[in-house]
Amino acid sequence: MTTFSANSLRTVLLFGLAFVCLAGCQASDSSRGAGQPPFMSATTSNPPQAADDAPPPDKTGGFDGKRAYALVGKQVGFGPHPSGSAAIAKLQDFMQSELKSYGCTVDTDSFTADTPVGRLPMKNIVAKIPGEKTGIILLGTHYDTLLTVPNFVGADDGGSSTALMLELARLLCPQHGKYAVWIAFFDGEEATQRWSDTDSRYGSRQMAAKLAMSGDLKRVKAFLLADIVGGRKAQFVRETSSTPELINLVWNAAHKLGYAALFRDTTTEAQDDHDSFLSRGVPSVDVIGDFINNGYWHTAQDNMDIISPKTLASVGHVFLESIKELQSR
Ligand SMILES: [Zn+2]
Repeated sequence: MTTFSANSLRTVLLFGLAFVCLAGCQASDSSRGAGQPPFMSATTSNPPQAADDAPPPDKTGGFDGKRAYALVGKQVGFGPHPSGSAAIAKLQDFMQSELKSYGCTVDTDSFTADTPVGRLPMKNIVAKIPGEKTGIILLGTHYDTLLTVPNFVGADDGGSSTALMLELARLLCPQHGKYAVWIAFFDGEEATQRWSDTDSRYGSRQMAAKLAMSGDLKRVKAFLLADIVGGRKAQFVRETSSTPELINLVWNAAHKLGYAALFRDTTTEAQDDHDSFLSRGVPSVDVIGDFINNGYWHTAQDNMDIISPKTLASVGHVFLESIKELQSR
């Protein structure tokens, strides 16, 4: 059972609020459980072009873009997986066994969330890598898909960042740094009906509230969130509600590594899981692709056709470099 403390109201008119119900906002149970409609399978009619090939892992800090791409395909292969569905339970099992196979210590938090479409079971999964000091570098992604659009498999929105974090876990779990690194996989980021402070971010609000209660929230030095990070034509723009120092840290890492064309200096504002931590005073950055202009955000076209192993590798490289920088402080 969970109750969320009220989030501070943020006076912003954001993309989340501009969400348009593309297929009717009546959430229905028909996309969950048995009798699911057909969905785009993990195989794609439009395979990645040579231009989308990931460089060899030794060019991207060890991050394997091909492997991350396959992990997006694996998630898409489960079909639509909104919170509380039979498909998401299978994905949770997959992620946990995958993390354990990397040698990660895995914590899970199963909870129920009261949503406009009823009480839903949800689960946060956190890989925890210990450090020598008390500080924690927190990384995050959401892995649930949007309920309100039929056949929505969320290859980029949910899938890409989750694949990125799994691949980072594979690289980081065997290591031991100055600070602990926690990699959080959030359930329930998407709204069940219409985005609001109470109908969205269920998993990250749950985790932030729990960490505040336990006292661990004060240990979190930085929260690096990834979302929509795998598009063939991805462009990353500075998300303006994020903590400026952390935006600069990530952008400096990206530019140093030669990704200035991918990490642009224009700005946007997005509502996302980082808000659950920002509102509690944790320095946070949302590394998010320009979803407003990508042409497939929150549509059934968000499938494997638009995913690039190269983009995944580049963003993975930037995350590794950013974590290295945070570890050196
Ligand atoms: Zn979304």
